[in-house]
Amino acid sequence: MIETVDIVVSIEKRNDESGWLKPVARRLKIHPKRIHGLRLIKESIDARRDPVKFQLRLQVGVDEGLPSMELPRYQVPTLRNDAKQVIIVGCGPAGLFAALRCLELGLKPIVLERGKDASARRFDLAPILRKGTVIKDSNYCFGEGGAGTFSDGKLYTRATKRGPVRKVYETLVAHGAPTEILVDAHPHIGSNLLPKVVMAMRESICQSGGEVRFETKVTGFLRGDENQLRGVLCSDGNEVTGDVVILATGHSARDVLSLMVREKLTLEPKAFAVGVRIEHPQSLIDSVQYHYERGKERPRELPAARYQLACEIDGRGVHSFCMCPGGFVVPAATENDEVVVNGMSLARRDSPFANTGMVVGVEPTDIPGEDVLRGIHFQKELERAAKIAGWRDIRRSELVTVPSFSPQPVAGSKTSAQRAVSVLAVMSDTTTKSQFLRVARTPSASGKETAGFVQAIHNALICPSATALNMSTAFRPARSAICGADQKS
Ligand SMILES: Cc1cc2nc3c(=O)[nH]c(=O)nc-3n(C[C@H](O)[C@H](O)[C@H](O)COP(=O)(O)OP(=O)(O)OC[C@H]3O[C@@H](n4cnc5c(N)ncnc54)[C@H](O)[C@@H]3O)c2cc1C
Repeated sequence: MIETVDIVVSIEKRNDESGWLKPVARRLKIHPKRIHGLRLIKESIDARRDPVKFQLRLQVGVDEGLPSMELPRYQVPTLRNDAKQVIIVGCGPAGLFAALRCLELGLKPIVLERGKDASARRFDLAPILRKGTVIKDSNYCFGEGGAGTFSDGKLYTRATKRGPVRKVYETLVAHGAPTEILVDAHPHIGSNLLPKVVMAMRESICQSGGEVRFETKVTGFLRGDENQLRGVLCSDGNEVTGDVVILATGHSARDVLSLMVREKLTLEPKAFAVGVRIEHPQSLIDSVQYHYERGKERPRELPAARYQLACEIDGRGVHSFCMCPGGFVVPAATENDEVVVNGMSLARRDSPFANTGMVVGVEPTDIPGEDVLRGIHFQKELERAAKIAGWRDIRRSELVTVPSFSPQPVAGSKTSAQRAVSVLAVMSDTTTKSQFLRVARTPSASGKETAGFVQAIHNALICPSATALNMSTAFRPARSAICGADQKS
């Protein structure tokens, strides 16, 4: 008989399978000798109380062994010569998965990508990291794998009903992602492993008869006699025809959205969130979340700690987003007149810093006007204002001494946020907070007002009186509390 059992074990017993036997037997009310096999199928950390524990979900073979488990493998489908052609614009996660799905359905995907392949693309990140100069069409967002390639690779989602989540994990493992993602309650791949996974997915598409074309930017649509879509026009003047066109161009390709408006395609504004990215010493987050004194070393069995914050201010949700333990802040702009950042970490999550986005929701109704792209204009305005307000100056070393939000440099190095020419701030004082919300409410405000918001955060950063970061009053943490965060640092 095969059973599924949940047990809770101490940190020390996490890797000691023999130590799992007794609690499993107790749960099943059987003698441990009847257990012939144990397999971990889900794992999470319970850090709500001290001591921190591991929650394990196990498959248990009672009176019989467990069936062997094969690792997910990608089966290359065979495509018929007369397969219908699907043009997929964009080789990000959406484009790659759409291509694999087309192959499953017997359709031939032709993926068109404006950027370079993942290996070549890597070299194009240097100018933005070193000088803040964006290479158009080849940057943190554009190129093979889209924004996903150098992303953090956090795969956690609560939206299990919206798609086959397990199948997505299996597809990623079949293309080289670590098998742990099948078990971990908060699966994570890491920026260093993702390019390999993305390239393996492209290999699968090509081996199965699909095509992936790089440095091929779509700039227009081809119409038939009855105005039906019959393909796309590329920036080099080439035309690509097909039976269906899928636009998987992501959220950074504002030019494609404008093209869609010009082409009179139906678009709807949707809610989104804007905010800032904050950075703390990882040791601070570890000590708070895992309940130990700062300065002690984190137990080696525990990963860099995460946190999650959510609250409502004046009826509007403010929450942490895309928290990267042991990670880096990276510049994610796609144009040279803007500053926008994101966060990522390597698979081992061992940077001395933790960062997270702190965002507030913006509804389409917050933005006056009829223009369907008004949210995009607001976003652009904010990113441009960030540039004008001089976020580049954050690289200057005097800001290293900014208390609270800017962690002390570790071993004399710059913080990753400084390296990323980025923003590290939180709605620390009421002025900043209300400015933040005001902008969120009146996003159509002139550039001046938006710049005011950015300036307010900037002032908060450089103004020594703005040091009191007390998240316990500003936010009600979703899980455990992070209070009075490091007044010293
Ligand atoms: C640093 C960073 C960290 C992130 N971390 C996470 C994370 O941990 N977890 C998570 O879930 N998400 C994360 N994200 C977000 C995630 O990467 C995106 O949500 C995801 O990549 C969106 O996938 P997509 O395929 O829809 O679009 P994109 O990834 O944006 O891909 C769109 C692709 O289309 C191409 N394209 C655009 N226009 C054209 C055109 N005209 N012609 C041809 N090609 C075109 C682009 O070059 C791009 O490659 C992160 C993003 C960044 C930048």
